[in-house]
Amino acid sequence: MLDTATNQPVLPPEIARRRTFAIISHPDAGKTTLTEKFLLYGGAIQMAGQVRAKGEARRTRSDFMQMEKDRGISVSASAMSFDYDQFRFNLVDTPGHSDFSEDTYRTLTAVDAAVMVIDGAKGVESQTQKLFEVCRLRDLPILTFCNKMDRESRDTFEIIDEIQEMLAIDVTPAAWPIGVGRDFIGCYDMLRDRLELMDRADRNKVAESIEINGLDDPKLAEHVPEHLLDKLLEEVEMARELLPKLDPQAVLEGHMTPIWFGSAINSFGVKELMEGIGAYGPQPQVQSAEPRQIAPEEKKVAGFVFKVQANMDPKHRDRVAFVRMASGHFKRGMKLTHVRSKKPMAISNPVLFLASDRELAEEAWAGDIIGIPNHGQLRIGDTLTEGEAIRVTGIPSFAPELLQTVRAGDPMKAKHLEKALMQFAEEGAAKVFKPSIGSGFIVGVVGQLQFEVLASRIEMEYGLPVRFEASQFTSARWVSGDKAEIDKFVNANKQHIANDHDGDIVYLTRLQWDIDRVVRDYPDLKLTATKEMM
Ligand code: GDP
Repeated sequence: MLDTATNQPVLPPEIARRRTFAIISHPDAGKTTLTEKFLLYGGAIQMAGQVRAKGEARRTRSDFMQMEKDRGISVSASAMSFDYDQFRFNLVDTPGHSDFSEDTYRTLTAVDAAVMVIDGAKGVESQTQKLFEVCRLRDLPILTFCNKMDRESRDTFEIIDEIQEMLAIDVTPAAWPIGVGRDFIGCYDMLRDRLELMDRADRNKVAESIEINGLDDPKLAEHVPEHLLDKLLEEVEMARELLPKLDPQAVLEGHMTPIWFGSAINSFGVKELMEGIGAYGPQPQVQSAEPRQIAPEEKKVAGFVFKVQANMDPKHRDRVAFVRMASGHFKRGMKLTHVRSKKPMAISNPVLFLASDRELAEEAWAGDIIGIPNHGQLRIGDTLTEGEAIRVTGIPSFAPELLQTVRAGDPMKAKHLEKALMQFAEEGAAKVFKPSIGSGFIVGVVGQLQFEVLASRIEMEYGLPVRFEASQFTSARWVSGDKAEIDKFVNANKQHIANDHDGDIVYLTRLQWDIDRVVRDYPDLKLTATKEMM
């Protein structure tokens, strides 16, 4: 059944009020600042600045965070929940750098929508475009926030045109900026005929909102200086004529994005954006799975792991599996079935990531993200259910495109190194291969920067300096098929064989010719460039 107002299925109210989303943006566009303001309005923290302050504290704990700071990239990820209006927002952080796209892809499988933040002076930048393409693969609804309007920014039509052209999506203005740079005074709310005026004196103040009775309301002139008013009237009229009207269905289908203009640092436009996510953003969606889909309103609980983060607290070597609830009403202490191992798991210490801190999650509904501390049982792609053998699908695993050999600076520490590497392999941070002949490990990643992050994490979290060196191999293929055939193949190709962290057999080579030869000589074997996460 569809709700006539929202065109979305009628869900239990607790589920229907959830909005689970990620922010996609190019570094520096204002993602962190916007996140802080979300949390500020969500009443989750007292003072903006805490997200960053907390971030700094984390950074001092581990030095890959130092790297993050030096390079101005954000590689840590987390989930945050907060309430605003009648809505519960779950914000999942995406790593910002392109070398972490694998992680980002997986994160985006756990959300129902994305907020795209662009810098009003820079428009659509490279990383925004890449992340947008990932969202498009899943037709994820996108809501756009054009930030930094308090500074010199580009012409509004130009920005909208650029998004439409570069991203091939219809753009509809939900607000229209009044004045540029120093002259920017706020926005005309195109959907509700209101003036939203920015207060430059108080950065944390909620904008003043003035009801207007259409564009010919004389009240407009009382609040908008004459030199800005004519331009506003002309532009809004043109926009209404030339740009597509808001079509909520097209937004839900990912074909249209509403755009808001604001200034995160001045807390301006953020409230309108949140209201927009509530009104036009999707409620929790059906999850693709095998042998059947999972609908959020199902009574039974199901969820899946989209991220594993190790060493959140280096003293405890704990691992937190981030689980997106796909259906039902979860309560703390529930016994769920870990579908991959078919074993029951009592979920006694689930955590909810409320902005300011972790907190025990007494309950969670479809759409929520909870963290489950564990000792490695939970892997990316795992499904948890109340017994049914369903497996969530669509969580990508990427072919490692760069291979390097890693060695501990101190050869006596090889065992330590192995432990560290296994940990990162399980987190999904890298593929790790142990060659069947010779010493050392081969690490496979998607982007070069991952090697540096790994090296610095191993040193920080395990006190182990390591070296990465060129490997003689450039490609890895997982081998599957008949057991006897695999044994025969392995014996004949010992120099090329390794095991991944699950013990599965991998064929390493530098020549495509080798791969073609294996395919020809062993027709019963299957060589694959990725291993499905399961
Ligand atoms: P991120 O890299 O996308 O997380 O961006 P940040 O939130 O860290 O912001 C990058 C820089 O832009 C910081 O120096 C912010 O203070 C600044 N900034 C963020 N929002 C605004 C804004 O609305 N106006 C202006 N002038 N600066 C902003």
